[in-house]
Amino acid sequence: MDQPADAPASTDLPADAPASTDLPADASASTDLPADASASTDLPADASASTPTFAAFHRMWQDLLPIGRHPRTGGYRRSAWTGADLACREWFRAASAAFGLDVETDRNGNLWAWWGRPGPNAFVTGSHLDSVPDGGAYDGPLGVVSALAAVGLLQQAGATPTRPVAVTCFTDEEGARFGVACIGSRLSAGLLAPETARGLRDVDGTTLGEAMSSAGHDPNRLGPDESALRRVGVFVELHVEQGRQLSALGAPLGLATAIWPHGRWRFRFTGEANHAGTTRWEDRRDPMLTYAATVLAARETARADGALATFGRVSVEPNGTNAIASVVDGWLDARAPEQAGLDAVVAELARRAGEAAGRDGTAVEVTGESLTAEVSFPAEPRRRLAALLGASQVGSLPQLPTGAGHDAGILSARVPTAMLFVRNPTGLSHAPSEFAEQADCEAGVLALAAAMADWVTG
Ligand SMILES: [Zn+2]
Repeated sequence: MDQPADAPASTDLPADAPASTDLPADASASTDLPADASASTDLPADASASTPTFAAFHRMWQDLLPIGRHPRTGGYRRSAWTGADLACREWFRAASAAFGLDVETDRNGNLWAWWGRPGPNAFVTGSHLDSVPDGGAYDGPLGVVSALAAVGLLQQAGATPTRPVAVTCFTDEEGARFGVACIGSRLSAGLLAPETARGLRDVDGTTLGEAMSSAGHDPNRLGPDESALRRVGVFVELHVEQGRQLSALGAPLGLATAIWPHGRWRFRFTGEANHAGTTRWEDRRDPMLTYAATVLAARETARADGALATFGRVSVEPNGTNAIASVVDGWLDARAPEQAGLDAVVAELARRAGEAAGRDGTAVEVTGESLTAEVSFPAEPRRRLAALLGASQVGSLPQLPTGAGHDAGILSARVPTAMLFVRNPTGLSHAPSEFAEQADCEAGVLALAAAMADWVTG
């Protein structure tokens, strides 16, 4: 695929970067997209040959790609503490070791790869490796691979950090298995009680505590992690954009300003199981009808309020083709620019679900399962990043809010955080077709390397 006409000519570091932290001289030249780059999820197999600066990035990317990829859908199934997740964690240990980084696992199962002695004021960067069911290759891994590649670029340049650098891999960011997102960072920040976390269950009834135990991690260690947080000077998370704002602006990279408040609610609709072939219409108490009405109401209500509301997961009892359901559990994901708007959408939806239940002879119960308040990323790390990258040939970076939650958003309650987004040309995310152009990924690595150099070698 051709390089977009609006892509930056190069991604040079600022002219005034300290001599000792100059990245390799061929960095900017090598960000040109090879003529034969494909638009597929795989980066070109020969990328390392044509882009020596990013050889490590491409090698790591290729090593990680097959792990947890479903052969039929092409999507990733890397739910927390499953075999695929454990394989990703092994990959992370090996990839970190190749850069001479020591990996430690904290009490909540998050991984920290240290360049230099672990200590205060560290420049911390990373993301997560778990995925939603049939997720894409970029959501999470791009931030982890880019972080390690950035360390590699500084090492190649002979940089000697005066502060520690840590590359992190937060556990269970997606919340795909146990229903709560960002479990690792929430626990560390003291925003999720350890006993609540341990008792969370997956669809098979396995608790998080049991899943951790069988993976060799002691669930009794879960809890707030002040010592880990005290070491973080700044946390910069690079992430593929989950929308098309950067594409519309013609910008390869952007900085996050805020994360919309968002949450998950379980709507339990109860009725009466009965025979699909013999029960008269007037005798039915079918919770599936109430659920269906609520799904439609969610779209209507949220659209009218400039919010987003989605039922993407449902569980039905007894789940038989020839049986009227007795219970339908539907999980609502709702997001809005402001808390008041989000509260209003959920309250209105609960009201309309109740109204439909009255009509259908069913009952509805709404339970909040997780709520993440609006996050405004602090001005300071963003200002410094904007100035640093804006002074380079990357140019000024658009600053934009997002509807997607991230570990950086959770941690922003406790430590200075910032987020760099890499353009996603289709905006598709949480799907196998999620994608970022090679040149944009490489621009992200350079931006992260420039930030790292600025923080730890200045
Ligand atoms: Zn993510």
